[in-house]
Amino acid sequence: MGNFGKMISDMRVVFRSGRTKGVEWRVAQLTALLKLLDDNTDNLCDALYKDLRKHKMESAIMEMNVTKNDIVLALNNIHNWMKPAQVDRDLINKTNSAYVRYEPMGVTLVVGAWNYPVQLIFLPLVGAIAAGNCCILKPSEMAANVATMVEELIPKYMDQECIKVVNGGIPETTALLTERFDLVFYTGNSSVARIVMAAAAKYLTPVVLELGGKSPVYIDTGADIEVVARRLLWGKYCNAGQTCIAPDYVMCSPETQEKLIEKVKDVLKEFFGENPKTSDSYGRIINERHFQRVKKLMEGATVAVGGEVDEGEKYIAPTVLRDCKLTDIVMQEEVFGPLMPIVTVRDHNEALNIINDREKPLAMYIFSNDKDVIRDLKEGTSSGSLLVNDTVVQAGLCTLPFGGVGNSGMGAYHGKFSFDAFSHKRAVMEKSLGMEAVNALRYPPYTDKKLSW
Ligand code: NAD
Repeated sequence: MGNFGKMISDMRVVFRSGRTKGVEWRVAQLTALLKLLDDNTDNLCDALYKDLRKHKMESAIMEMNVTKNDIVLALNNIHNWMKPAQVDRDLINKTNSAYVRYEPMGVTLVVGAWNYPVQLIFLPLVGAIAAGNCCILKPSEMAANVATMVEELIPKYMDQECIKVVNGGIPETTALLTERFDLVFYTGNSSVARIVMAAAAKYLTPVVLELGGKSPVYIDTGADIEVVARRLLWGKYCNAGQTCIAPDYVMCSPETQEKLIEKVKDVLKEFFGENPKTSDSYGRIINERHFQRVKKLMEGATVAVGGEVDEGEKYIAPTVLRDCKLTDIVMQEEVFGPLMPIVTVRDHNEALNIINDREKPLAMYIFSNDKDVIRDLKEGTSSGSLLVNDTVVQAGLCTLPFGGVGNSGMGAYHGKFSFDAFSHKRAVMEKSLGMEAVNALRYPPYTDKKLSW
């Protein structure tokens, strides 16, 4: 294990020199990051295939392009984002200047998860650089091929003294977390998030926590089931269900459940052919541990579609579990795999109560044409994001913040929000030494006369 104390104190020296603060450094590093991605698209897509059997189209859309778009947005807006924001002034401050200055936090740590291993390391890095920080990246050891590529490529393209990669598992992350950082940005599960936050608390280091949870779907009786099925299944089964904002479970009426199950069969054929196992558009479970975990979630449930598994290939078929009860094990934890439990409900109010009885989810999906139903569910619940009549695509719009609430996380990023997440908003007021008479009122001795003025 490396000497992280020395690594971090060396970075602090460079940070204090001011190198990362100028716009030139930020633009140069963002440009270099874009070049890294452009030059190595094929290599990174190969690594994603080896780790997750991701099709290169899925990698292009959901890993490479989102990251490149964010870099281009940052490059186009960085001058504006960095501009101090003037604030309104009251009468007493009319002659003073008052503004918010966006300053880098300092030396930051980004800990990534394995399911979108390119995006989850590079998107936070865009924010770290745009805001002028030094940054240590800790890719997930579970996506080992991508982690190795990140470790190899970062020093080739980026400022080696300001941006570093530490590869490793729990011991390395634990050792890193004993050090003092100015911000820790963690993506992963809510249990480890508690460890991260407790470690950060020692130094009162702020944290951004991008976590998961059971993101619910409500399908209203009037919704066009053919369209619903396609939009729902794409979000559920891309990356073999291993997406933090994947629709986790579905709530609908018993009649809608029947219609949905029939449509699911058609749509799965459309997407993956007769046998999804032979489709190159369908992924695999990341490792043996997660394969066993997801497989176990099927225990006791009624399989309506799919259910086949192949341990050797870490393959789990796109699966629908019908008539699930809230007490079933599949309803106790985030599925994070290709199982879609359906819970039948009387109406949207019952769905609303089920959502509110649980931890606040990262995302929530409503399929409905009924404005009242949409309003009731929107106003009656809380979630990191809410998407009506589709799944997952809200994360692709970088003018929306991406983040959780409660158990699904704290803080947000993407686009300008990433710049904000890695910036300290320093309140600055500048006065002149003149006009001293204005201050006379606030100085002692305090008198009733001064108070009544
Ligand atoms: P993971 O196992 O890759 O862990 C994430 C990181 O935490 C890794 O870098 C790992 O080294 C580190 N880690 C693991 N155990 C640790 C420990 N005991 N102490 C210190 N560090 C430790 O990923 P995961 O947690 O399996 O990821 C899946 C979860 O992440 C799901 O809940 C998913 O919803 C969530 N997720 C959220 C987002 C988001 O943006 N909100 C994105 C992807 C995944």
